[in-house]
Amino acid sequence: MNRRDLAKGLLAASAIPAAAQERAARRTTGLPPLKITDVKVIATSGGRNYRWVFVKIMTSEPGLYGIGSASNHFNSHSIVAALEKHAKPFLIGKDPDRIEDIWQSVFLRTYWRNGPVNNNVLSGVDMALWDIKGKRADMPVYELLGGKVRDAVPCYDHAGGPTPEACVESAYKSLEKGFRHVRIQLGNYGGGGFIPAGQGERPEGAPSRPAFDEDVYVDAVPKLFEYVRAKLGFAPKLCHDVHSHLSGINAVEFCRRVQPYQMFFIEDVLSPEQLAWYKQIRKVTTTPQAVGEVFSHPLEYVPLIVERDVDFIRCRVSAIGGITPARKAATLCEAFGVRTAFQEGGDNDPVNQLAAYHVDISTPAFGIQEENAFPESAREMMPGCAEIRRGYLYGSGKPGLGIDIDETQAAKYPLREARDGAPYSLDRTMDGALTKP
Ligand code: MG
Repeated sequence: MNRRDLAKGLLAASAIPAAAQERAARRTTGLPPLKITDVKVIATSGGRNYRWVFVKIMTSEPGLYGIGSASNHFNSHSIVAALEKHAKPFLIGKDPDRIEDIWQSVFLRTYWRNGPVNNNVLSGVDMALWDIKGKRADMPVYELLGGKVRDAVPCYDHAGGPTPEACVESAYKSLEKGFRHVRIQLGNYGGGGFIPAGQGERPEGAPSRPAFDEDVYVDAVPKLFEYVRAKLGFAPKLCHDVHSHLSGINAVEFCRRVQPYQMFFIEDVLSPEQLAWYKQIRKVTTTPQAVGEVFSHPLEYVPLIVERDVDFIRCRVSAIGGITPARKAATLCEAFGVRTAFQEGGDNDPVNQLAAYHVDISTPAFGIQEENAFPESAREMMPGCAEIRRGYLYGSGKPGLGIDIDETQAAKYPLREARDGAPYSLDRTMDGALTKP
């Protein structure tokens, strides 16, 4: 460079606008210090029968906050108390930029770990901190996770009905809506395996309810998929959720029988108490296995992933501690050729859905995402809800998670009292014993 060029360069440097100079300085000196000033807990029915709990972490920067999902339909009041009485006083004053350190300290704060209540608390806090980080960076969270590795997130739809004919009819509707992946259930969970109320021999004085029978299920559901494949062909990718209703050798036999119908996956054919049986399934069939909806600690997956006993991990992001552990689990999956299929249930909320979206769209280990659609009341209350169009999930593209919550609107829909304790509904067998859900 000669002297004239050097002078030109210096002149150009002095012409850099102040805002750009400030941005350049921030790149090398980091962001200004920030503190958590308050933790709000927003519990709402969303205008329906939801039992949603959201965390809103306020910071020392005016107008900067993050929101996260701590929802747990069956323990909602415990989550509210844990957040208000324990997490809030612990978090105030801490630096929200230290996501990993806060995750580790909220995880270890309770001394006993892995409890589902504290993992919901962790999730709410973790998602809110990623939301804040994204807003500070003026980027959607997926950009901070490495950026998009796909253009949108494919979802599987839910289809089903009381008969094989109704199931096919319902699956056609999913395909017409643009879904390439469809989960098909013969009625409710366990459907196809129930002896109708009033039939069969029951203990004296026992209530006459539909009774679950493993052998009936193992016989009926593979026949359903034989019928569905005959009608729909083999192009649609089909899933089915056993919801932990089978025990050991029946689970093995079930997976062997559905093999000819080329399932995309069979979900939770075994309960989490019987994971060792997955090795037996591997010995007799290549039917893919999706596992772990009720896991609350992400490390429960480690042996299943590293031994390659399963094909998809099914955790709910808000049940395992949020984006931080979901991303780590996805990275572990990537190394071992296992895929993610993050769970959504009808009880799930729009913030959790978006947390899953940001991991889904940025991880090479992604397999599929369960769909979830929200009523207008919830979408109005939560501007920036993700949208499913032609089978694909799209985020709002706004910085952070990309969603907000209208607190005035949420206050109009308070959480209802859990008069009966809001339990998960349980099935029973002919003799009145419980079936694992
Ligand atoms: Mg399930």
